Amino acid sequence: MTFDLITIFPDFFRSILEHGLLKRAMASGHATIRLHDLRDYTDDRHRTVDDRPFGGGPGMVFKPEPVFRAVEALRGEEPEKRLPVILLTPQGRLLSQSVAEELSHAERLVLICGRYEGVDERVAENLVTDEISIGDFVLSGGELPAAVLMEATVRLLPGVLGNEESSEQDSFAVPEGAPAEVRHGLLDCPHYTRPAEFRDWKVPDVLLSGDHEQIRQWRRRQALEKTWRRRPDLLAQVPLSEEDRRWIESLKSTEHELEAKI
Ligand code: SAM
Repeated sequence: MTFDLITIFPDFFRSILEHGLLKRAMASGHATIRLHDLRDYTDDRHRTVDDRPFGGGPGMVFKPEPVFRAVEALRGEEPEKRLPVILLTPQGRLLSQSVAEELSHAERLVLICGRYEGVDERVAENLVTDEISIGDFVLSGGELPAAVLMEATVRLLPGVLGNEESSEQDSFAVPEGAPAEVRHGLLDCPHYTRPAEFRDWKVPDVLLSGDHEQIRQWRRRQALEKTWRRRPDLLAQVPLSEEDRRWIESLKSTEHELEAKI
């Protein structure tokens, strides 16, 4: 999968490309990440990418011409293909595991990182094919959101994670064999490692029992309980077995009993 990043701070990406998952994915040929300095697509001596907003107000706005030139140059490399172009913006659709999964099927993505007050609206209206936000908060630039989007997507490419670190057990992972309309999985169960006792806090006995069926059941129940308590919105979208439903019902009745006692 190839990412073309359009940014005024290409150096921002150096450290994440030199460490961890993205570095490994590039070394193994699963991902290619190309950095494009927006200033290379300007046509004035000062390499100007921004200007004051029409109508007044604070801050600066990315001018449309360099952004159009950069994207059109990239589109020109493969004119026969429809190249997806994503603008990172707090006003876009929210990034989630299912959006990352959808993006991971693309061969190539262009990511535009905004700065200042944002990007001239004609870019969103006439150039990009998608607008994505990484959450309901505002950062100073699109570089961190682009890095988040790339990492979330690349780790889903087949072969990027080894068996030891499979993404199938992670929070939100859609269970294998789930119907196509299922867009989310549960939150992950709790994990523990050595020592078995730390400051009087013990690892749950079942995890030390060696009984694989008991461990599987405990993990499933913990994942259901966490999701029910923290993200009931997700629970409503996950396929549940009869056993899952009985467990959630038992959690609800324990909760009701506790409330009744208070
Ligand atoms: N004035 C814009 C607004 O309120 O919608 C915010 C501009 S923000 C300060 C500058 C740039 O950071 C944006 O153009 C975008 O590329 C990036 N950005 C900030 N927050 C983001 C988020 N939550 N998701 C994706 N990109 C974001």
